[in-house]
Amino acid sequence: MSNSRLNELLRQLPAVNTVLVSEKGRELSAFYGHDLVAEATGQVLGVWRQRIIAQAGEVEPPSLAFLLKEIESYLISFAMPRLRRVINATGIILHTNLGRAVLSKNAQTAVALAASCYSNLEYDLGKGERGTRYAHVEELLIRLTGAESALVVNNNAAAVLLAMNTLATGKEVVVSRGELVEIGGSFRIPEVLKQGGATLVEVGTTNRTHLYDYQKALNENTGLILKVHTSNYRIIGFTRSVSRHELQKLARANGIPLMEDLGSGSLLDLSAWGFTGEPPVPQVVAEGVDIVTFSGDKLLGGPQAGIIVGKKEYIDAMKANQLTRALRVDKFTLAALEATLREYLRPEEAVRNIPTYRMLAAPLEELREKVEKIMRSLTFIQDKIEVQALTTQSQMGGGSLPGQTIPSWGIGIKFKTITLEEAEKALRQLPVPVIGYIERDTYILDMRTLLPGDDEVVIRSIYEIVS
Ligand SMILES: *Cc1c(COP(=O)(O)O)cnc(C)c1O
Repeated sequence: MSNSRLNELLRQLPAVNTVLVSEKGRELSAFYGHDLVAEATGQVLGVWRQRIIAQAGEVEPPSLAFLLKEIESYLISFAMPRLRRVINATGIILHTNLGRAVLSKNAQTAVALAASCYSNLEYDLGKGERGTRYAHVEELLIRLTGAESALVVNNNAAAVLLAMNTLATGKEVVVSRGELVEIGGSFRIPEVLKQGGATLVEVGTTNRTHLYDYQKALNENTGLILKVHTSNYRIIGFTRSVSRHELQKLARANGIPLMEDLGSGSLLDLSAWGFTGEPPVPQVVAEGVDIVTFSGDKLLGGPQAGIIVGKKEYIDAMKANQLTRALRVDKFTLAALEATLREYLRPEEAVRNIPTYRMLAAPLEELREKVEKIMRSLTFIQDKIEVQALTTQSQMGGGSLPGQTIPSWGIGIKFKTITLEEAEKALRQLPVPVIGYIERDTYILDMRTLLPGDDEVVIRSIYEIVS
């Protein structure tokens, strides 16, 4: 095609200003603001310009009305919040990619209050003077874990880093080779130790570590014995690890603190639900571990936070560390954490009120009923989909209880008018995305991780993507 013909086609595209002064253009500007609409118009026109040049002669320039439609959808998607609600139908309760724990109603209320009002965040109402932000949760943590003292930082990775930096800078930290953990998102024990200024001394082998391995490694430069909970993997077969009791005796005899990075950190005994290998925090404290760290948004079911409990002398040293200021939690975290911890003052309330536990404890009949309800509502589109009730396996997730599953109920869907991949993508890209999973030739929605009201959204979403 000749250059002059191409130029003529390009000239038929309206100028940015022509779009802006049109009736619809003015309407959009009044709603989204002039600058944003001008930017969107420039983007959309740019795409058309490229298209006309690339497919010379094959495409005609669009009408003004068509351009305005494209500009409007650009603006709608720009204005939609990036961080938004999704429906978790994966059956993974603490899904790290989907925000881990959902807060209890009481914790939600506490966050809203902290956001909308002034608070006594760092004001001691008794004395009428400056107070500390940590005081709001310290007493509760002491009461619930049996530890002497407590401190809260931004997340558990920060808790481990702070402990290393405070207690082991320039010193050696002894860790079993079976516990050199990597948690998703690049938390690796050897790297965190290095960052904290400590030197890692690995002892034992991947599958077996003995008390004498630790004994041999100790010297005058040992700062800490560190035990790490293997929260996201399991070593099975010919294995041996050293008990807390033995390590505690060894540490005590040598005047060295014993620390445990517990990771998931439950305040309740999960063996009540048939889970093994997750020692409750109070038990770990009672067994004589001097410093225990765990996450706020794993098995605690609260906000993202790193909780450190243990002997007062060590916690006091951490409080005095300059790094604590850089790792400090904000008022929303403290509000949510305090409210979450209060739930545990009555454990039976915690199980009812904290979504993580409510999901974990949801009886199979209840999940089966949810399946039936959703399936009944989908009978009207039988020509487009085929649905069946399936037994599924839920997981705790978030690097907790590896390899242990919870029987659950799900809905299996086969789509007659679109492919599985198209359906999965369409559901994921709705304004309220629905996240399930594909297993063999079926799209599966697990009922265990649905929150109240989610079933209605799931039904509407399936109607929407097949119509
Ligand atoms: C999850 C986990 C961490 C990291 O905790 P975050 O709160 O995600 O920073 C560290 N150590 C262990 C053993 C863990 O399981």
